[in-house]
Amino acid sequence: MQDPRVSGLAVNARDGYATLTWKPVPGAAEYQIERTPLDDTGAASGPAAISGVWRPNRQIRQQSPSFADAGFVPGRRYQWRVRAVVATAPQEFSAPVTALTRGPFQSAGFETGFEKREGADYTSYDEEIDWTRRIAEASPRVRIVPLGTTPQGRTMNLFVIGHPRPIATAAEIANGPAAGANCNVHGNEPSGREGCFMMIRELALSNDPWVIDILTHATIVIVPSFNADGRANNTRGNSTGQDLNRDHGRITQPESQMFAAFLRDYTPEVMVDGHEFGNTNTCDLPLLWPRHSNTAPAVHNISKLGFVEGHFYDAGATDGWWGCPYPPPGIDGAQTFTRVTGLKNMVTTLVEARSSGGPTRPLENGSQPESRRRKAYSQLWSVRQALVYHRAERPAIAKAIADGIAFQKSNTGRIVFHGDWDTAAFPAPHPGDSPPPGGAPGPDQILDPPPCGYFLTDALYNAKLKDSGTLPERLWTSAGERLALHGVIVEKRTGGYFVPMAQPLRGLINILLDAKTPPAPIAAAERVFDCGK
Ligand SMILES: [Zn+2]
Repeated sequence: MQDPRVSGLAVNARDGYATLTWKPVPGAAEYQIERTPLDDTGAASGPAAISGVWRPNRQIRQQSPSFADAGFVPGRRYQWRVRAVVATAPQEFSAPVTALTRGPFQSAGFETGFEKREGADYTSYDEEIDWTRRIAEASPRVRIVPLGTTPQGRTMNLFVIGHPRPIATAAEIANGPAAGANCNVHGNEPSGREGCFMMIRELALSNDPWVIDILTHATIVIVPSFNADGRANNTRGNSTGQDLNRDHGRITQPESQMFAAFLRDYTPEVMVDGHEFGNTNTCDLPLLWPRHSNTAPAVHNISKLGFVEGHFYDAGATDGWWGCPYPPPGIDGAQTFTRVTGLKNMVTTLVEARSSGGPTRPLENGSQPESRRRKAYSQLWSVRQALVYHRAERPAIAKAIADGIAFQKSNTGRIVFHGDWDTAAFPAPHPGDSPPPGGAPGPDQILDPPPCGYFLTDALYNAKLKDSGTLPERLWTSAGERLALHGVIVEKRTGGYFVPMAQPLRGLINILLDAKTPPAPIAAAERVFDCGK
């Protein structure tokens, strides 16, 4: 019988985490990763504990185990050992490995509040604003663009980053390569925001060749705080109670409107959208690409097969992060970030850091700072992957976007009110997690042939809409204003406005303007089927 003791254990210290790799043991049901804190002399300074459980079915390369151990305080020294569990019996531990761990790129005076307090709590709004101002002063690569103000008076800032300095105008940036991140739409899911601060600092201040290469080839656009009121109040929604990730289509709220204008003006090609997910049995990083049925095939396919399954799953298997498909919400029509950005011909994914340690990271359970550090560093890793992927695959990404726009402008084939491209469990199976539900549209959600456009009367186009939460009346907006914020092409006609389907945002139009759209359109416009020739 082969020796069931793990061999070949190696450790590689990375940005806030450490990748452990070892040779697989035949018949192992799982592996247990043990971590021990060490002092400067290399002696144990605390108890050994199982910090990770790795299962062979968790990654796409199941014969090459790799585990991203995280949650520890980076900058300190640790020892690791790994043992196989055969049937239910733990085997002997491997020989130990040790490493001095490290955090992400750091620059004196630019630690975030989160880092100063080692994850005891998150960076506050006041700390963010001060840090933002100082980063912009310190780095000629950074331009801060205030996108607007929340209902409670907080600023939503856009970081525009380029080398040696950012391109001057949104119009010029829109004409070239751009990628980035939307980091914190749900106020009580803060780890993506912390990961974005760390990524911004590295892009702004590091002279590493990777940073210079990224910034030489694209403009990076990052919105760390989409929902500053929700973050300050630690609520999922904004101050009016609206879930902003159910508002990217209707854009009832100021935050959603500012962000829509940013997408319209800068047209980033690739973005990640940071979240946290409360299912303790899911993987480290559930991911979800644009999947609304109206998404252009070229955009859906490159997002799924290229960005998520091709790049994220592969890089995760190398670095030790466990990615899997996020089971998408099915009840909110096309209002989420990934659905709407796909309909805007962008290549995107949602990234959910699993909220708690769960069975695979037992040391986190009962330690919030340990859990927060793992989440923040996994989000930093995710934002970095978006930039790496964009840099590596930009020609294919640009072609998919051009093909997607051409598809939408042709107004060919059915349109769907509510329905999704299917998402299979991959890599399967996921222990304790159910595969994503199918999302194919029912016959009542399909319109085929599609209309050639929609008509809004002047009254419908101009009426201020009271359609969400407790937003004060001074902040109400009209259907016409919202169409403009999205960048929808509109033609003035006698008595009203005509919105042609043959345009780049075709997949979004029936979602905004058709009475059949669940839960509701912004205006119930008239379908037009005869547009002449
Ligand atoms: Zn979320």
